Amino acid sequence: MTFSTATAPTSTAGHRSAIERVPHKLLIGGEWTPSSGGTLQVFNPATEELIAEVADATVEDAQRALRAAADAQTGWARTPARTRSEILYRAYELMVERTDLLAEVMTLEMGKPLAEARGEVAYAADLIRWFAEEAVRIDGGYTHRPDGTARNIQLKQPVGPCLLIVPWNFPLAMGARKVGPAIAAGCTSILKPAPQTPLSSLALAQLLMDAGLPAGVLNVLPTSRAGEIVEPMLGSGIIRKLSFTGSTAVGKILLGQAARNVVRTSMELGGNAPFLVLADADLDVAVDAAFAAKMRNMGEACTAANRFLVHTSVAEEFTTRLAERMGALTVGNGLHEGVEVGPLIDEAARDKVRDLTRDALERGARLVTGGETRHTTGYLVEPTVLTNVAPDSALNNTEIFGPLAAIQTFTDLDEAIARANDTESGLVGYVITRDIDQALNVSEQLEVGMVGLNTGIVSTPSAPFGGVKQSGVGREGGRLGIEEYLETKYISIPVRH
Ligand code: NAP
Repeated sequence: MTFSTATAPTSTAGHRSAIERVPHKLLIGGEWTPSSGGTLQVFNPATEELIAEVADATVEDAQRALRAAADAQTGWARTPARTRSEILYRAYELMVERTDLLAEVMTLEMGKPLAEARGEVAYAADLIRWFAEEAVRIDGGYTHRPDGTARNIQLKQPVGPCLLIVPWNFPLAMGARKVGPAIAAGCTSILKPAPQTPLSSLALAQLLMDAGLPAGVLNVLPTSRAGEIVEPMLGSGIIRKLSFTGSTAVGKILLGQAARNVVRTSMELGGNAPFLVLADADLDVAVDAAFAAKMRNMGEACTAANRFLVHTSVAEEFTTRLAERMGALTVGNGLHEGVEVGPLIDEAARDKVRDLTRDALERGARLVTGGETRHTTGYLVEPTVLTNVAPDSALNNTEIFGPLAAIQTFTDLDEAIARANDTESGLVGYVITRDIDQALNVSEQLEVGMVGLNTGIVSTPSAPFGGVKQSGVGREGGRLGIEEYLETKYISIPVRH
């Protein structure tokens, strides 16, 4: 592992123009407007520099956004699906055209290496294209009442104004995964980015406006006062749908607030993914998949492999090979050539990984590679592999959210599956095996919404992303993604013949 020595506090200066090309204001009713409550500061986690000051929405700003979303709702719901689709398709094209700008801005405010940021832009663009295609496929049904006396016509209608809350870890893709289906379904919305990463959401809104989205259909409220502004919005009677991606703890608070007005919810919450390597696994596949599932986004992914459960017969070779791969990575400022692992989002995230590592070591784990955090500029953490991790280690019940691979072994598969399921989370699980019977057996028994079978990546616009248990409610993407933004109505028609 190497730390890139090129990380310098002044390194954002050359990227000022990218930041300046993105609006720094609120988007309300089609107008970029300042906030009545000053600005919030955005920092580069690689250099800890202040990179932007962005309008910081207040309760009054949120009221204006609510009115704008409410005023635009009827017109947008009546806009032909083909028009909604074409606006999204144009936004997809603009996103591809603006890849370099969007990636640079994302790396600056969030830290991921430029190559990964470009990958996220491609993923976000694909999500927008997917929902451009879905807009014109909204359908319904026609059924006969069994006694022949009536017909039932089922139709799908937009839910109405939506509140969309996104986290900082995939700031563009998580926005696209909500804004895309909302627009496609005919819903207006208010997007609330995380305060660490408002620029990606503002850039997304800018390109949708450039693609011809009418005023008020999308409103964006960066804010440092999420708790203060979100509760009144959910209680306003205007918001009909909340789509939230973030931690389970915050998700539970918002579910409570949404319940008061019976606001529909989609909740994409935290994970604690088990990664099972069976005795017959192809270790080339296992190491590739483990590396992807652990190191994508520096481990700051809800889908990140949190607990590796490896059959004793292959554990040593798997551990050695994964450690070699992770230990060879270059850590540093994501804007620098050759850097493969960027900083974590902030000091607390860095300290959390350090504390989880120490706790596991104190309980008997062995350090195979890494283990250091960098205490100079930027929240850098060495990719770390621990083996012999004890069951009572804190990381078993904690979302690590960093580049720390924690390996435990098993001999009995049923017991391994029980351990994999011994968590309140249920987002994703990974299984590596060449045996089709075992593959299906384990996939069916894992208490998760998604299974990566011989792969470490499950995110794709064409599949229904989401979790069970305390990892969430609802699905994003695939055929189900747009359903989350549609209500079903049926019309009963008596027939007299
Ligand atoms: P977080 O602390 O829950 O924050 C998520 C969003 O909620 C942010 O915009 C945050 O803004 C806002 N928020 C926090 N408290 C709020 C409140 N009381 N009322 C209204 N909004 C509130 O999560 P995070 O640290 O940003 O993101 C990491 C988490 O997201 C992890 O648990 C990860 O697993 C999860 N995640 C899940 C998925 C998925 O698809 N299942 C995808 C990505 C991430 P403030 O920071 O201003 O409070």
